[in-house]
Amino acid sequence: MADHQKGFALELRHLKVRYGGIQAVKGVSLSVRPGELVTLIGANGAGKTTTLKAITGLIGTAEGQIFFNGDEITAAPAYTLPARGLVMVPEGRGVFTRMTIRENLLMGAHCLFDRHHRQEHTAAADIQDAIDAQLALFPRLKERLTQLAGTLSGGEQQMLAMARALMARPSLLLLDEPSMGLSPVMVEKIFDVIRDISANGVTILLVEQNARLALQAADRGYVMDSGMITTSADAKTLLNDPAVRAAYLGE
Ligand code: ATP
Repeated sequence: MADHQKGFALELRHLKVRYGGIQAVKGVSLSVRPGELVTLIGANGAGKTTTLKAITGLIGTAEGQIFFNGDEITAAPAYTLPARGLVMVPEGRGVFTRMTIRENLLMGAHCLFDRHHRQEHTAAADIQDAIDAQLALFPRLKERLTQLAGTLSGGEQQMLAMARALMARPSLLLLDEPSMGLSPVMVEKIFDVIRDISANGVTILLVEQNARLALQAADRGYVMDSGMITTSADAKTLLNDPAVRAAYLGE
């Protein structure tokens, strides 16, 4: 392993993504240390979602290099990553609306099942422990276990999407716009949970349009504009940066 890769949970080196004629990501380098909560902020269309999708192998045409815990995952297929500890909560939540909350959580348990060599009798207790842990973190879901996910409010669906992701017990969680479309009260709740998840030792890369809340919660931040990282610093520094305040904090 080269020195530069040591000690990072995630490292992007010169990541580039093109959609046909559009260069959406133009050479992004960033890193996240184990246990850090790092946020990637920027305007609509800056390339944040594309960056997350490239990390998780959902875009096949990325150039550059991606390392997870020092191992190159640039060409790793998406389906192999959760078992390695890398899970994304997608923009728009992606809950299975016609399945119950419990069934959605079970969909997140595939790698636990695999860890038990797909033996139902040995996996069951571990999967139930994982469900119990999620219901402790998201008590709202507990009262609604048999309800169809499509009947949940947007905020509850966001909680379910996060709980489903955490079922795999990831070491690195990628969150894409978790506050999008939610009421201010629900946004606060979601950020409280993000802080709790981080306090539990999960490394987080958070893409957010609510730059103020994201920077208040994060250790460090990267600002992305038109496919490039324009600034990076610890979160407090960015919160006090006049250019960041003017462009992203509405001041
Ligand atoms: P948002 O917050 O609106 O999701 P973003 O920063 O996440 O913005 P991306 O969604 O990554 O930005 O989009 C970056 C650029 O790539 C935009 O110009 C967008 O129109 C373009 N783009 C995104 N997805 C596709 C696609 N599937 N095909 C073609 N162009 C795309």
